[in-house]
Amino acid sequence: MKEGRFFLPSSGGRVECVLCPRHCVLSPGQTGFCGVRANREGKGLSLNYGSLSAVQIDPIEKKPLSHFKPGTDILSLGSYGCNLSCLYCQNHQIARDSDLFRFARGGEEITPSMILEQLAAPLAGVAYTYNEPTVWWEFMIDCAGLVKEKGFANVMVTNGYIEPEPLRELLPLIDAFSVDLKGYSEEFYRDVSGGRLAPVKRTLKSIVEAGRHLEVEYLVVPGKNDEEASFEELMLWYARELGADVPLHINRYFPRHKMSLPATPIDRLLALYDIACKYLSHVHIGNAQVDLSKRRSQP
Ligand code: SF4
Repeated sequence: MKEGRFFLPSSGGRVECVLCPRHCVLSPGQTGFCGVRANREGKGLSLNYGSLSAVQIDPIEKKPLSHFKPGTDILSLGSYGCNLSCLYCQNHQIARDSDLFRFARGGEEITPSMILEQLAAPLAGVAYTYNEPTVWWEFMIDCAGLVKEKGFANVMVTNGYIEPEPLRELLPLIDAFSVDLKGYSEEFYRDVSGGRLAPVKRTLKSIVEAGRHLEVEYLVVPGKNDEEASFEELMLWYARELGADVPLHINRYFPRHKMSLPATPIDRLLALYDIACKYLSHVHIGNAQVDLSKRRSQP
């Protein structure tokens, strides 16, 4: 636990958290939507500072990043909490399970220096992943600074739901971003993920403008975000605003958590793959074994 950044004082001992676009206004004793930032006696705290749900070594392709240090392994860290509420969340226990959060807070506090001791060649660096690292901002930025000083890379696997100022501070430290773009309509973000699309588009553009490596994930939920005309509109925006060279991963959805729709049919993935290939240079299909050798070639 640590005093947090990006809390603004408000009336009556309340504080407003401006780390992510939700801007939770918290009375003393209250905890924000993410479950890990709170007002305690008028002070804004990061409750999950130093609380880790996982520390393990993964191939970087699992983040997934296919065009950043391919073939290397990366030390992957996760904590607790999330600022979205996707109905199909695959990590809902570490994202939203308040019992687990309480247990975690009673556990050993890990420091960024302890992480650094685990970091040695041939590891590529550290990935902040598993739960949403935005809501772990204070620990991530402390750790990322040390990792960078030691000459290793930092990778952030994120939903992109972050305000411009905290993102601006991260940009010089994070070498590669894997951003999960949930859909291409405000309705999808509101109804399925409990957030808004506009801030995520802003984050994607800021990462590109800062010249950082970016790869984008798009989980195809059948009947929800696989409408072809809308996806083509997304690809036009993507190529124009992010660039045709920014890799896109089109991923297969499987029923999880509160969503019971059947898994994405392979032909839906292929239909969106063909559209994406008209505009982008690097398109991948994830979570499915698909033979792409006879598909249209990418530009
Ligand atoms: S980071 Fe958490 S507390 Fe802060 S605005 Fe977002 S959801 Fe609310």
